[in-house]
Amino acid sequence: MKMLLGIDVGSVSTDIAILNEEGDVLTSRYLRTKGNPIEVIKRGLGEIEKELNDKGIEPDVAAVGTTGSARYLAGVVVGADLVKNEISAHAFATIRQVPEVRTIFEIGGQDSKIILIRDKIVIDFGMNSVCAAGTGSFLDHQAERLGIDITKFGDYSLKADNPVRIAGRCTVFAESDMIHKQQMGASTEDIIGGLCEALVRNYLNNVARGKELLPPFVFQGGVSENIGIKKAFEKTLNHEVIIPKNNKIMGAIGAALLAKHDIEKNPREAAFKGFRVARTNYKTRTFYCNACPNNCEVYEIKEGNKVIARWGDICGRWSEGLKRMKKVKVNKVDP
Ligand code: SF4
Repeated sequence: MKMLLGIDVGSVSTDIAILNEEGDVLTSRYLRTKGNPIEVIKRGLGEIEKELNDKGIEPDVAAVGTTGSARYLAGVVVGADLVKNEISAHAFATIRQVPEVRTIFEIGGQDSKIILIRDKIVIDFGMNSVCAAGTGSFLDHQAERLGIDITKFGDYSLKADNPVRIAGRCTVFAESDMIHKQQMGASTEDIIGGLCEALVRNYLNNVARGKELLPPFVFQGGVSENIGIKKAFEKTLNHEVIIPKNNKIMGAIGAALLAKHDIEKNPREAAFKGFRVARTNYKTRTFYCNACPNNCEVYEIKEGNKVIARWGDICGRWSEGLKRMKKVKVNKVDP
């Protein structure tokens, strides 16, 4: 059975999607990266291989796309046909599902972004820089402090009668303000409701600052699972916010679809190494090149004892000549 594979490796989660040729999701994994993207990719592919075997499905992967902050690494490990930035991957998947979308809010564990679309074309985008106050880690941290399971946060916030205003310019201010509100006797529900509103306020004031926000609004990424944040967006924008199907893995879906699109445009044999990747040993290391004042930090990955890729060298001294690397089609216009 012909399939598409998309992998989105972020600092918090690694998302893997298997699609049929029509672009429907057949199966997926949403795994914690835990600082070890290669092991997580191997685990995810191993699980998917077993699931397909158990169902008696013979997978024939026709196109592979990777995205996310470790997209090049993932691309080299699995053999990707296309390595694409997250903005393009998210936008492509969303436009396919909600063709009239004009604003995408994407909030993950450590990163958040906004993508502005007009007539199905990305015209602008923004990302959080160093501030975590508009990302999922802000909520994770506060949930831990309150001793409440983050997955219950949404339910609590929906029961908030009078969400308190949390001064949430940054996580440090938010935390001290939250403690103050607790001491003043605010209910847990109202504090959590206030935290959801603070995250949305932070996001709109930082990531979306100066952007023209027009509906339809689509909200995706891991944090879009939290109904409290969706409601907080709707309250602040005074407009409905759409959560798409497969909201947590849109980057992986977009990467898979873009890879298919690219192979159709430039027909070639798929680069996928196969599910054997799950049982292959990879080693990574970084080193500094001292051959000139640039002092590049070079990343290297080995499959068994063989170096399969190096990157990070400005002049190509270390990466050129590694033919494997050239199998990965790299998008040159990464934001
Ligand atoms: S990799 Fe090239 S540019 Fe970088 S330090 Fe070495 S010689 Fe200089």
